[in-house]
Amino acid sequence: MKLLLLAGTAEARALAGELAQVASLSATAALAGVTDRPEPYPIPVRRGGFGGADGLAAYLSASGTDLLVDATHPFAAQMSANAVAAAARAGIPLIRLERPPWIPNPGETWVPVPDAQTAACALPAGATAFLAIGPGSLAPFLQRRDLRLVLRAIAAPTPLPEHPALSVIEARPPFELEAELDALRACAATHLVAKNAGGDAGRTKLDAARQLSLPVVMIARPRLCPAETVVHSVSQARARIRAIMPHA
Ligand code: NAP
Repeated sequence: MKLLLLAGTAEARALAGELAQVASLSATAALAGVTDRPEPYPIPVRRGGFGGADGLAAYLSASGTDLLVDATHPFAAQMSANAVAAAARAGIPLIRLERPPWIPNPGETWVPVPDAQTAACALPAGATAFLAIGPGSLAPFLQRRDLRLVLRAIAAPTPLPEHPALSVIEARPPFELEAELDALRACAATHLVAKNAGGDAGRTKLDAARQLSLPVVMIARPRLCPAETVVHSVSQARARIRAIMPHA
């Protein structure tokens, strides 16, 4: 039996670890190829896009894939839409693993916004914004010449975008609470900007912002195309895979 795992998250790697133990299953992880040094996977990895939903459907059919698992990041809306369309075209089941979003804990001050453009407009003039959003969502913030911007990313964008007060911290998650406190203090951040990615590992930055009484401009998730089977944890995904593939 063949399974394709659309990856790029901690949950995808954890699930890959479990699938690697199943002798009757041939599982491959797909990565977009956005980082030069991806975390290692215990199953074969295919890097790079498929060429839209049509390309993915063609890949699924040509490779004889029996099951597609979408464990991409909750903000990877295009890939999730492609997965829904391609699985339908190839006539195979799709499981989406979607971790629950964060909700504010007592003592956290959130400014909820629908997208990165609105997040950029929500920051007051003179603010120092710690951007835990990845380079892909940076563009609207670059228009705000009245802000100090501190972007944290696995790798700095090249070339570095033009802005009078942009700095980049290169770092790879997960981050401990102490490291988050240090990072926010070191740049004298007045605001944290985050995407509502969910998951335990990424929550430490919210805990740090609360301890430092920093407001969090929280970008809501994009609405994803409906998928027939949606699970919310690695163990639920594992159980659904077993239900579809009894020997897996
Ligand atoms: P996206 O906008 O939904 O997808 C853009 C294109 O990238 C897709 O159409 C597809 O190209 C390719 N792609 C995306 N994920 C892929 C995968 N797992 N395997 C192969 N191709 C993939 O995605 P994104 O937001 O740029 O995210 C890219 C990757 O980074 C995803 O794997 C995601 O899990 C991970 N990630 C994203 C974020 C975020 O904030 N967006 C954060 C952390 C990790 P084709 O159409 O050519 O197939």
